[in-house]
Amino acid sequence: MSPVPKVIEPGACLGVLGGGQLGRMFAIAARRMGYRVHTYSPDDDTPAGQVADAEVTAAYEDLDALRAFAAQVQVVTLEFENVPVEAIEAIETVVPVRPSGLALQTAQQRAREKAFLAERGFPTVPFAAAASLDELVEAVERVGLPAVVKTAAFGYDGKGQHKVTAAAQVERVWGAIGHQPAVVERFVTLQAEISVIAARGLDGQVVEYVPFENRHANHILDLTTAPAAVPAPIAAQAVEITRAILEALQYVGVLCVEFFVTTDGALLVNELAPRPHNSGHLTFDAAVTSQFEQQVRAICGLPLGSAALMRPAAMANLLGDLWADGIPNWAAACRHPDVKLHLYGKDAPRPGRKMGHLTATGKSAREAQDLVIAARDALLI
Ligand code: AMP
Repeated sequence: MSPVPKVIEPGACLGVLGGGQLGRMFAIAARRMGYRVHTYSPDDDTPAGQVADAEVTAAYEDLDALRAFAAQVQVVTLEFENVPVEAIEAIETVVPVRPSGLALQTAQQRAREKAFLAERGFPTVPFAAAASLDELVEAVERVGLPAVVKTAAFGYDGKGQHKVTAAAQVERVWGAIGHQPAVVERFVTLQAEISVIAARGLDGQVVEYVPFENRHANHILDLTTAPAAVPAPIAAQAVEITRAILEALQYVGVLCVEFFVTTDGALLVNELAPRPHNSGHLTFDAAVTSQFEQQVRAICGLPLGSAALMRPAAMANLLGDLWADGIPNWAAACRHPDVKLHLYGKDAPRPGRKMGHLTATGKSAREAQDLVIAARDALLI
């Protein structure tokens, strides 16, 4: 039997790297349970910092500041994975980082992540890595057209992605991605995109939510419905793969696995997010235990909570575009009694920027989806 893990008791101080909305919701969950929270990011007055006990503003390259931050807390987690490895290593000399540096290194670089998945036999789209124009030409040939070229590092929400439909386009794309290492993927036709969010505790206990279904607009998540409308064997396989990935990484914390379901019925892993995920925001209002509370419990060595959904639910993101003609009509959205409003405290509503979200619950996922869309439309009345 593995030794009983040491519990970080409520009242202790938890550290979060990153200042965004994921950190904000983590801090809200942690404070509800009596923990204190310190955040660290290069910005000030951040969504997470606004609700934390202390907000440290310093660069991810400032190792002294990172060690000083770590000395004030009992464990560090992340809400933003694109921090330099050196930052994680500096913190790990002072307090544990959960999930560990190994899991983060795997998930923060697309080529490494794909290699990890392929080596262990997890299904992915056909892919090839490339670090020069010649390699990119060869990779596109190997993978086949149409293909999509993605920068290997630091990509999110479709940033740094280019579709290639003819070999003659490869040189232009190599310029467009700034001659950076890339991963080429076969562009597949999708029937659905789903995500499985799961938590693994210090003692190896795993709890997962049912698969959620995600719709994107301009590469950014637009709408999530839960549970996903996919056949039961696909849902079961997605959960099984997620559990196997958590084990392979000896992961501690919350992980999201994003999947493609292709039109010919194949289930493929798209990517891993080593943290709570936008598609799990609805767990705050619709699950027995939110993904953020699971993150608190996992990193503190507490038993995980039930991931059961209390009701079918849907989530609609609120992007800065909604502010184009002035402040959205919050009262109109809140007129729906089964709709919850979440705003992240950001003051500059730029197009494409995630400012908040709405969650609705209903008798069915479809009903919740219709409701959340109606509430979002009402914002523009
Ligand atoms: P990613 O940042 O890799 O998750 O890609 C963002 C979105 O682009 C995905 O959620 C898909 O909607 C789409 N996409 C990415 N890669 C592929 C692919 N290989 N085939 C089809 N669609 C893709």
